[in-house]
Amino acid sequence: SAQKRDGAEAARIKMAGAGKMTAKEDRKNAGNRKGETRLMVRKADVKIVENLGGGKGTAYVHHIVSKDEMLGHGRLYARVVLPPGSSVGWHQHVRDTEPYYILKGEADFIDNDKTVTKVGPGDCCIIQVGQFHSLENNSDSDVEFMALIYNEAGFLYE
Ligand code: MN
Repeated sequence: SAQKRDGAEAARIKMAGAGKMTAKEDRKNAGNRKGETRLMVRKADVKIVENLGGGKGTAYVHHIVSKDEMLGHGRLYARVVLPPGSSVGWHQHVRDTEPYYILKGEADFIDNDKTVTKVGPGDCCIIQVGQFHSLENNSDSDVEFMALIYNEAGFLYE
């Protein structure tokens, strides 16, 4: 149920606390938190996902940063490739939002009110906090888009 999902979501999210470190400590640790060097160039980490968000077929999710690297402010920043016949299933954004930016191909964006809009390169699909959406590739060519999921103000993922 929606209520149960909200409860699970709430358990996963905590209120952003007051800063635990001073600005001086923040500067000292900048770029070297957890002993990791942050200045680097690498390839995106590609994950092959079946039935993304309950959708059809396969999706290739090129993670630009990991959820951990989003420092609690979000959970996804990725380039997603949807082959013909694949889709991102109908799902809700609780306490976060996700703009899509279409890079390639032609897709059907299904908005919160179930309206279907053909989208292509340069189109931005705006999904607001609490809304549902899905995206279908009903064409004969790959669809590629950027997806960014970030939290509403005041919340950090644990
Ligand atoms: Mn989404």
